[in-house]
Amino acid sequence: MVRTRFAPSPTGFLHIGGARTALFAWAYARHYAGTFILRIEDTDLERSTPEAVQAILDGMAWLSLKPDEGPFFQTRRMDRYREVIARMLAEGTAYHCWSSPEELDAMREAQRAQGLKPRYDGRWRPENAAGRPPPVGVQPVVRFRNPDGGAVVWDDLVKGPISISNDELDDLVIARSDGTPTYNFCVVVDDLDMQITHVIRGDDHVNNTPRQINILKALGGKPPRYGHVPMIHGDDGQKLSKRHGAVSVMQYDDEGYLPEAVINYLARLGWSHGDDEVFSRDQLVEWFDGSHLSNSPSQFDTGKLRWLNQQYLKRTDDAWLADAIRPRLIRTGVHAVALAGPNALDLAAVCALLKDRAATLNELADAAHMFYSEPRPRADELSAHLTEAVKPALAALAATLRDAPWTREGIQAALKQTLAAHGLKMPQLAIPVRLLVLGLAQTPSVDACLAVLAREQVILRLLAPPQPRA
Ligand code: GLU
Repeated sequence: MVRTRFAPSPTGFLHIGGARTALFAWAYARHYAGTFILRIEDTDLERSTPEAVQAILDGMAWLSLKPDEGPFFQTRRMDRYREVIARMLAEGTAYHCWSSPEELDAMREAQRAQGLKPRYDGRWRPENAAGRPPPVGVQPVVRFRNPDGGAVVWDDLVKGPISISNDELDDLVIARSDGTPTYNFCVVVDDLDMQITHVIRGDDHVNNTPRQINILKALGGKPPRYGHVPMIHGDDGQKLSKRHGAVSVMQYDDEGYLPEAVINYLARLGWSHGDDEVFSRDQLVEWFDGSHLSNSPSQFDTGKLRWLNQQYLKRTDDAWLADAIRPRLIRTGVHAVALAGPNALDLAAVCALLKDRAATLNELADAAHMFYSEPRPRADELSAHLTEAVKPALAALAATLRDAPWTREGIQAALKQTLAAHGLKMPQLAIPVRLLVLGLAQTPSVDACLAVLAREQVILRLLAPPQPRA
């Protein structure tokens, strides 16, 4: 049974990198019909905040990455960590160390002076400290007794086989002098207790892995399979940072990206399935078997995310889009009554007209705005297109529209009839109609646009010159 976990430290938002890790762990669990666990690694009390926990939960909920178990909080598991430390002390896989920070500094300094790599020299290992009394008044730390000799070997899902000599690793502190357990230790106890079979995480943790494997084995556990995914860089090749605007996945919600598009985009950051670019969450789950994870950093590409979002917008149901852009239209100043009152326009029809040209929900809302505001055409466009020659045709069109069936076809017929009667070409009539009714020279098909509006409104606008803007 596959069990994966996402284990964020709640020190900020759920950013793109974290969301990608969560997605991979989630997709892997789903692919193997396993269990996806959320664990909040909040032992760093100074940097962890409840707001950040909430932000992570919100981000995951927005992306529909639902944990099967959890969230579990490390701060609520302190008794368990203490219990395991006591057990390790009793079993001899851990020991007390009374070295003071000054002493450790001096030790490292001496090692450097001899050209050695600084590391704890094991001076409080029981066999080395035999007969030496602990200093009075010092609270000891607890160190893990790292195995001597040999190597830690694992076959990384992403990086392939990795081998780290135990001589590279010293005896890690697993409990501070105040008794609090340290980061790597808590991770191991949790992975063991939660029976994690696969750890997918950022490769900034790859140095922790051999230490974690050693502790895990000392506790009698079977190490999970690890997969360390490389960093995500910004558009400019630099490390992804706030500067790239990618602070939180929720920012993509604000900007009008669809969660499914973001999921699709994240999946392609460091993973591929042939040449497939646009695929559903279900397809991702079907394909995500742990292979084809890339070992090179991926590059965040806003243009590609926009493109993908546009593909999703086009395929999204108009009624759903209408609901999604309603609050965004209100934010741009459209009155709620205009959107929900008895005379409200059919916003789904508006979305159907505009969605092919918008890359985000915000762009769709901006485009839809013209249907809810007084037309304010540009003065120069108005004078260029609202010629004396076309004015009688506009009056005739208004008259014809009074009795035309209020459908796209009915309006189209009225337009054609007017063109024929006045000897005009379509653009000569359609552009001034657009300017008068919607304030813009370019809109989707004019008959379709008019059909969305109310007949009376269209007729009034055709007859009354609008207030142009400079
Ligand atoms: N808490 C760690 C982080 O947020 C992740 C640790 C892990 O996945 O093992 O970077």
